[in-house]
Amino acid sequence: MGRTLVMKFGGTSVGSVRAVRQVIEIVRAARAEWDAVVVVVSAMNGVTDTLLDGAHRASAGDEGVPGQLAQALWERHNAALDELTGVGLAAEARAAIKAYLDEFQALCHAVRVLGEASPRALDAIATFGERMSAPLVAAALNAAGLPADPVDSARVVVTDAVYQAASPDMDATQARAAEIIAPLLASGRVPVITGFIGATPAGVVTTLGRGGSDFSAAIFGVVLSAAEVWIWTDVDGVMTADPRVVPEARTLPALTFREISELAFYGAKVLHPKTIRPVVERKAALWVKNTFNPTGPATRVVADNGPAAGAVRAVTAFKGQCILTLEGRGMIGIPGIAARTFAAVARTGTSVAMISQASSEQSICFVVPCPSGTMVLRALEDEFRLELARRDIDSVFSSAECAVVTVVGAGMRHTPGIAGRVFSALGQAGVNVAAIAQGSSECSISLVVSAAEADAAVRAVHALVEVD
Ligand code: ADP
Ligand code: ASP
Ligand code: MG
Repeated sequence: MGRTLVMKFGGTSVGSVRAVRQVIEIVRAARAEWDAVVVVVSAMNGVTDTLLDGAHRASAGDEGVPGQLAQALWERHNAALDELTGVGLAAEARAAIKAYLDEFQALCHAVRVLGEASPRALDAIATFGERMSAPLVAAALNAAGLPADPVDSARVVVTDAVYQAASPDMDATQARAAEIIAPLLASGRVPVITGFIGATPAGVVTTLGRGGSDFSAAIFGVVLSAAEVWIWTDVDGVMTADPRVVPEARTLPALTFREISELAFYGAKVLHPKTIRPVVERKAALWVKNTFNPTGPATRVVADNGPAAGAVRAVTAFKGQCILTLEGRGMIGIPGIAARTFAAVARTGTSVAMISQASSEQSICFVVPCPSGTMVLRALEDEFRLELARRDIDSVFSSAECAVVTVVGAGMRHTPGIAGRVFSALGQAGVNVAAIAQGSSECSISLVVSAAEADAAVRAVHALVEVD
């Protein structure tokens, strides 16, 4: 099929008429350069949140809100279609959007009757944003003379049944892509595929997790053997910090896979953490670019190749976390406490962002997302009921909300004194550090600070960043 390019456009990049016009020009330029162009789209920005809000309100017994939300979503998509395709044209796209909104309301009704929204129901409801944006963008491309077809990835991406965080079966997905996407590419058409969505082999709709459209782009990059995957977003690539927090943040022209994995894992929302691996494994090039500044600075994600320039490359904050601590003098020397702790946490299905154990072995502390805090606490109390009764473990407790601030740089391992510089920068800014951990790769250092001090901490540490 020749050289294939997969381009993913995020929520802001399809969120307005102005944005979709940018998308059209980007696709037009890419078609002139590449043998095959595949587009993956997110929902228009804010739509996924709106849909989930409707579901939660319905589960709480609200009868009217889902209908109002559906009306507002209809007006937004319909008005965008008027401007992009002409008033009243693109009947097929409009009918599809209307049908999805009816389905949304029907599902909300079911949720209200049941009085609860299961993960499976939430997934079904969350997918309507992408299912509406794909026909919209495809219709806009067609109206601009670029032949395009919307594709619902529930037909293509085969996943397990882990709702809200499904994993793809790459072989099964590859077979479906060969059947459904390849013929479109062979006839010179642009498939506009929904990001975020998959389905089990039995056809039950799943999602890859919030922010999962990046992951979808990576999956399509792999199964379609794309030469490159471009993630189009609303900032100039991956930057030294979130530009919303640090206005002087700069674009990182190149970042290693390891650096970007740490950044993405620790909350740099610009790229979904699961995106990187499949693309690296295929050695395809991965770029992060700005839809609103297409020829401006961008980030190329490169393989790990020796010491990178600049010790501290970027800093990020992972908010909404809390620290759980297990402490007691009787813990010293009892084997297996750590293993039992993390086995108990794992049984709750919670992922641990960071672990730190004092060398005295008198305490273990680790960080989990706040909403899971209470559940994890209960699981630990259960696991260590005996030790707590015997006072081998004095207490298990949770902190107030905090943030994990992570400093990333592959060159840090060759540069002594980084931790010292990070601490003095924080000290000067008056930020108190509650816990610290160094990644085993020595490519990151993470510190926990209170939620209120997170932005100040990021700004203080950002002053240490060196770009080239
Ligand atoms: P999209 O809808 O395109 O996927 P996201 O909102 O998911 O966009 O991600 C882009 C946002 O990520 C940016 O607007 C920015 O505020 C945020 N962000 C956080 N950390 C970084 C960083 N280090 N570099 C760039 N953007 C970042
Ligand atoms: N629309 C989904 C979300 O808001 C997926 C994505 O944007 O990547 O999480
Ligand atoms: Mg995103």
